[in-house]
Amino acid sequence: MDTHAIVVGVGTELTSGLTVDTNSPYLSRRLAELGIVTLSHQIVDDHVDRISEALLQATERAEVVIVTGGLGPTADDLTRQALAKAMGVELVLDEAGLAEIAAFFRRRGRAMNRTNRVQAMLPAGAEALANAAGTAPGIFARLGKARVFVVPGVPAEMRRMTADHILPRLTDLAGGWRLAYRTLGVFGAGESDIASRLADLMGRQVNPLVGTTVAGGVISVRIIARAQTEAEARRRADETAQIVRERLGDYVFGSDGDTLAAAVGRLLGDRGATLCLAESCTGGRIGQLVTAVPGASETFLGGVVCYANRVKRDLLGVPEALLTAHGAVSKPVAEALATGARERFAATYALAVTGIAGPGGATEDKPVGLVYTALAGPAGVRVERSLFPGGREAVRMRTALTALNMLRLDLANVRES
Ligand code: ATP
Ligand code: MG
Repeated sequence: MDTHAIVVGVGTELTSGLTVDTNSPYLSRRLAELGIVTLSHQIVDDHVDRISEALLQATERAEVVIVTGGLGPTADDLTRQALAKAMGVELVLDEAGLAEIAAFFRRRGRAMNRTNRVQAMLPAGAEALANAAGTAPGIFARLGKARVFVVPGVPAEMRRMTADHILPRLTDLAGGWRLAYRTLGVFGAGESDIASRLADLMGRQVNPLVGTTVAGGVISVRIIARAQTEAEARRRADETAQIVRERLGDYVFGSDGDTLAAAVGRLLGDRGATLCLAESCTGGRIGQLVTAVPGASETFLGGVVCYANRVKRDLLGVPEALLTAHGAVSKPVAEALATGARERFAATYALAVTGIAGPGGATEDKPVGLVYTALAGPAGVRVERSLFPGGREAVRMRTALTALNMLRLDLANVRES
């Protein structure tokens, strides 16, 4: 029989739409890793009776109830009062909790406010959960047959407490399983294409569990393996990761949190090669991705944000005649940008991008989303034409990643031959 959970988000800023609830989806995903199924997400405003009512209902239907938010020191933070009410007990001062809050303020060299004392109050019979990322301790209590966890709403604190307290206190419900995780970074194909190649691995109740998520234009394939020992879980996760790599081939650029730019940096470093950029429609985005990786200076020389035609011409040597004949967004201009940058920076490789990010700027034969990406290297210059869907931001991001991926594939292939 499945173990069930209900997640409750507390805060008027959530019910009013000022803040979007991201805590509940996060918690559901983490619970799923233990095989715990979330039945529902609920959002309640800062109101003692309504929070306590939600708690009573949730604890009747699920064995695990997680509440985020409303633990702060201010008058509108009412979750601890609501929990006490639902449990039918008083709030009592937890001396150890008070000492911890006082220590937190001392470490920061700040005076503790009297209102912070309320954060050390707990419903009688409940347990405090230390908060390594903030002031307010969390709360653990049993209500009916349910385990109730209350943690702060601040996402970073919530995540930290999930790892420190919630998941460790639920492992028995996961049947004593040990878990191992692998993540593979994938780029160059759509999520549905990737998912269809992995369809047989992506069942709901299978072990290892394989799933895909998209963030920042990059797909992550996440593998979670369960076994009775950690070594066995790791072995199974690695084995599945290997199968995924074989199925997806060149689409896989890295693992466990690698970025595309980090993968490119590594390949450049291996070959002792350098990179420079000529960025029009991305306005420096590629440079930002590249320099976000520590140690980028070993392979990255610099770039030109060549937005105006005059800059393309004067700084990168694109012939005026090319600009006039073909327009800035064209194959010949992309090519000239890349070769011009490569020469001027004396780099092994140059990436150049020019495109129409929208919403304006389109012509009959040049729609929004049209992008030329050029790569100049020791073997000459190559241009790819793409037509990206989506708004300005999506087109710019997609362009930057596509350029980096073009270089990555080139470097990977050169290395093999
Ligand atoms: P604190 O002790 O820091 O006040 P708290 O438990 O009182 O923590 P809240 O005051 O409810 O937490 O929320 C703090 C901030 O965390 C909110 O302003 C909001 O930005 C963010 N937050 C709260 N709940 C959520 C949620 N469910 N999803 C995403 N962000 C949230
Ligand atoms: Mg608060």
